[in-house]
Amino acid sequence: MNHYQNILLAIDFSDYGHYVAQRAKQLVDQFSAHLHIIHVLDNIPMPDTPYGLVIPLDEDSSYDLLEAEKNKLKQISDQLDIAPTRRWMVWGEPQQEITQLATQQHIDLIVVGSHGRHGLAVLMGSTAKGVLYHADCDVLAIHLKEH
Ligand code: AMP
Repeated sequence: MNHYQNILLAIDFSDYGHYVAQRAKQLVDQFSAHLHIIHVLDNIPMPDTPYGLVIPLDEDSSYDLLEAEKNKLKQISDQLDIAPTRRWMVWGEPQQEITQLATQQHIDLIVVGSHGRHGLAVLMGSTAKGVLYHADCDVLAIHLKEH
C-alpha cells in the first residue's frame, strides 16, 4: 500500500461529516500524514464573485451566512488539529474544486463520503463519483449507511 503523505478530507457539514472525518483522521495517524480539509460553498448565494474563489479564512466578512460556514470549518478543523494553512473554503462546484485543490496541493489521497444511492440518484451521480472520475490521485469513498 502507498505511504500517503497528504490527505484531503472533503467535508459537507452533513450529519455524516464527523464519521468521514474520523476515518480520515485514522489514516492520517496511521501514515503520519498531513491532513488538509476543504469545504466547497455550493449552497449559499454569493453574487458578484468569480467561479473558483478561495475564501480567506483569517478575515471577517459582513456576510452572516459565510461567517457561519467558516465557523463550522474552524470547529471541525480545530477538533482534528488541522493547521490553518491546510484549511480551504472555496466557492464553486464540489467535485471540480475538490479535485483541483488536490492537484494544486500535491494531495495523494482524497477522502469523501459515499451514500451508495439507488435508482434515480445513481443516474444523477454523486460528489464521490465525480471526485473519483476527475481526481489525479487515490480516492477513498467512505460508505455511509442511510440509517
Ligand atoms: P454527496 O454525494 O453530495 O452526498 O456527498 C458525498 C461526499 O462528498 C460528502 O460526504 C463529502 O465528503 C463530499 N462533499 C459533498 N459536498 C461537498 C462540499 N460542498 N464540500 C466538500 N465536500 C463535499
